[in-house]
Amino acid sequence: MIVHPELRRAARHARRPLLAATLLQGAVTLSWLAQAGLLAQALAAIARGATGSLPVLLAAVLAVVAVRAGLGCAQRRTAARAGAQVRVRLRDELLAHLGRLGPAQLTTARTGAVRTTVVDGVEGVDAYVSRYLPQLIVTLAVPPLLLAAVAAIEPRALLGLVPALLLALAGPRAWDRLLARRGREHWDSYEGLGADYLEALQGMPALRAAGAVGRTRRRLEERSAQLHRATVAKLRVSLAGTGITDLAVQGGTAAGALLACWSSATGATSAAGTYLVLLLAGECFRPVRDLAREWHAGYLGVSAADGLAALRTAEPAVPDTGREPADWQQAPRLAFQDVEFTYPGAGEPTLRGVTFTAEAGRTTAIVGPSGAGKSTLLGLLLRHHDPQRGRITVDGRDTAAYDLGSLRRGIAVVSQETYLFHASVAQNLRLARAGATDEELERAARTAGIHDEITALPDGYATVLGERGATLSGGQRQRLALARALLADAPVLVLDEATSAVDERREADIVRELTAAARGRTVLVVAHRLAAVRHADRIVVLDGGRVDAVGDHRALVAAGGLYARLAEAGRTHEEGLAA
Ligand code: ATP
Repeated sequence: MIVHPELRRAARHARRPLLAATLLQGAVTLSWLAQAGLLAQALAAIARGATGSLPVLLAAVLAVVAVRAGLGCAQRRTAARAGAQVRVRLRDELLAHLGRLGPAQLTTARTGAVRTTVVDGVEGVDAYVSRYLPQLIVTLAVPPLLLAAVAAIEPRALLGLVPALLLALAGPRAWDRLLARRGREHWDSYEGLGADYLEALQGMPALRAAGAVGRTRRRLEERSAQLHRATVAKLRVSLAGTGITDLAVQGGTAAGALLACWSSATGATSAAGTYLVLLLAGECFRPVRDLAREWHAGYLGVSAADGLAALRTAEPAVPDTGREPADWQQAPRLAFQDVEFTYPGAGEPTLRGVTFTAEAGRTTAIVGPSGAGKSTLLGLLLRHHDPQRGRITVDGRDTAAYDLGSLRRGIAVVSQETYLFHASVAQNLRLARAGATDEELERAARTAGIHDEITALPDGYATVLGERGATLSGGQRQRLALARALLADAPVLVLDEATSAVDERREADIVRELTAAARGRTVLVVAHRLAAVRHADRIVVLDGGRVDAVGDHRALVAAGGLYARLAEAGRTHEEGLAA
């Protein structure tokens, strides 16, 4: 009966409609009482043989039935509105928080599990808050009033009603703890299965290639069976509680009826009083029966409450306490000063004392062997994590001094893994700038070397892409993502292997076009193929988390260090390809 704090919190999102739904539910219950009163009088009149007043009484009963139908309709509509309000607010809140948590959190959480919480969990909370809670309040308020009314007519009836009511309400509470545990187990299985299915669907090509489809199917079947077992285990406990309630309701009604008959037989109450006690005894239990029904509707919300609370209160990897808006009028200078960083839980630092600057309005390339820490460096600039030592400044200010949202908006990123949505090409591009004109879209697409291929699509810019851009080639996806980043028109552009899936000749052209188009912006480029970055104003060579050398292409080749070796390896590879 104790309402989970997360669910109470959710209910606050729709105080007014919930209050209205509760009052209407109360009115519906009162109409049942009025009907009981009128029927008792009618029955008493029949017993007395005074049928004169019957038509009026029966007409009044019909009127009450009609009013209740109207009230019930209004109640359901108000409750649905309250539920929708709770759902929308809760999802908005969760999505905004997920945005604040950023990629650092999402790399550890399973997408399918988060989806299950945000979609199914919130749906359950809607049912709990909009249907169960109003009924709970009515159930706690109405039976005591009824008992008082019964006590005024025939106090002895309370001997049957009070224990039965207490048993009906408090009996199932004996299972609360067990039910909560079973509920959590059920929810964990439910979330896990959601995550497994999503992963299996998204990874189907990899599973097929590895010949693992059959094995995955069997694993999913086992997980489904596990969910089934968890559901049955939860149901068993829940049904035990419902069984107790039913038993108490039926026993209480029967006991009330017997006591009413007994007092009538002994002449202690009038005929009207006896009928009234009989009918009111039944009404005492109606809210309890209704509550048991709504409990099942809203139970998923109770199971999901812990998961929702965990998601809503998850701590972001970095604090968002900076207030400075990142509204740089001109391209800013980026500086890394003695930056040291170790991933949470990792033993060894990934970056050790990294120091370099990316001059304002210039292109700086970061190169180095795989695992050198290049992407990590870019992640720190975007504050997916904060370094344990050293500073990263933009325009002379610590990145932490900026408002996190505006810092991330000021830096357009294209990474190795692009994300395109199941929407038209134009809609995908306009994600970066909703108000961009068609000409602007076209200009960005031309610069990214994708315009001609877009116009060759069946509907040009209006062509709807498959999920994650599945209907495009890897290189086309990357170039579309590049066009989107250009459209964002942010003063800092970060390209992390942004052209890795584009063929080498094309890559050189795109990089040339891009640097020309991005003139006036500060560009950071990470690329494996050195040919793509040889024209960069400055090249930072990273090795094992340290800066090995800084310079331009010529100076670095002349110095004969790691860069020269990487360039030589790249040249031999190209010659091999050409041969
Ligand atoms: P590549 O050229 O292969 O993309 P990179 O130079 O960009 O490599 P990073 O992705 O920055 O390298 O990774 C540097 C090191 O940090 C690697 O050893 C990697 O295993 C580790 N690392 C990366 N991401 C995480 C993470 N989220 N948690 C723990 N360690 C990580």
